[in-house]
Amino acid sequence: MKFATKAIHLGQEPDKSTGAVTVPIFQTSTYVQDGVGKTRGYEYSRTGNPTRAALESVIAGLEGGSYGFAFSSGMSATDSVVRLLSNGDHVVVSDDVYGGTYRLFTKVMERFGLEFSFVDTSDIGVLERAFRPNTKMLWIESPSNPLLKLTDIRSASRTARSKGVLTVVDNTFMSPYFQRPLEQGCDVVVHSTTKYLSGHSDVVGGAVVANDPGISERLKFIQNSAGAIPGPFDCWLVLRGIKTLALRMERHNSNAQAVAEFLEGHPKVERVIYPGLSSHPQHELAKRQMTGYGGMVTFSPKGGVRSSRGILKTTKLFLLAESLGGVESLVSSPAAMTHASIPAKSRMKTGIRDDLIRLSVGIEDIEDLISDLSQALDRS
Ligand code: PLP
Repeated sequence: MKFATKAIHLGQEPDKSTGAVTVPIFQTSTYVQDGVGKTRGYEYSRTGNPTRAALESVIAGLEGGSYGFAFSSGMSATDSVVRLLSNGDHVVVSDDVYGGTYRLFTKVMERFGLEFSFVDTSDIGVLERAFRPNTKMLWIESPSNPLLKLTDIRSASRTARSKGVLTVVDNTFMSPYFQRPLEQGCDVVVHSTTKYLSGHSDVVGGAVVANDPGISERLKFIQNSAGAIPGPFDCWLVLRGIKTLALRMERHNSNAQAVAEFLEGHPKVERVIYPGLSSHPQHELAKRQMTGYGGMVTFSPKGGVRSSRGILKTTKLFLLAESLGGVESLVSSPAAMTHASIPAKSRMKTGIRDDLIRLSVGIEDIEDLISDLSQALDRS
């Protein structure tokens, strides 16, 4: 099966007892046993639920992995993957990861004896030099958030593997439609399904996919032990979103490319970052590593923070909100919103300037999106 077919059919056969074409919402916490210990495959919904199983199966299949695990949020998925580690282990992390990931690692996980180094993983030399004898995990976001820097997943994974280090890729920005990190040698893929996978800004969720049976066994154990699982209705919403993932991603991509080109040619814009632009320093790597460039565009207007704040106030279709990946276009200030939990000094060091504007380009009509940005820039 090809991608768009898998998205609709994998793990989603018509219900055996009723013929229902969509996977039912199995809103149950427990399951009757035919005798002590004689289950029909399910015993308790923290451990397993058929709606969740359908979701886990389709996400794993789309990522080209063997085992999928659904979580209650992207952050709980991240938290569960980090629980593969032990006290004293060290993790090398992309320096401009999502602010919430930075917060979890530095404010929560460090208290449990884990060590983190945030480095520019887009430079393999820098990445390699950051490895220590106790490094056990490499955590990559590619493209990163919000600077859309790419890490060469294939060579980073190869470098990590040669040192016995596990590579994890947060694939939220690309979705498996445009990038499949497991096929490029990484060990574990993480998603905030809140974003492109569900696609309609109506649910918070997360997912993890892996190939190695040993790692997957441990992830399953952590998922069941810690219990950060999504409810059946939330799983169903993500399942429904995934059915149109291929169509949506194509449109996000073509709209974002048009928006990026429009901004790049605008006299009031200082700099545009989008992997689909030939001006992106890693455009060639983007062409090799991804099959599309996604729906996220970051730019800085001329005129600094004042002009940036003006734009954030005057767009009408681009709604001022955190998050991304939904059908509607959103605009945000990473420094003041999604990345505010990163100290100002570290933000400056990594290039997350206060005047940066991040767009999550939705799937509306492109003419309307461009005229909205145009009127906002004119007024700034
Ligand atoms: N990873 C990335 C790249 C994100 O952008 C986000 C949220 O914005 C997360 C993880 C966390 O996901 P969630 O908000 O579903 O917990």
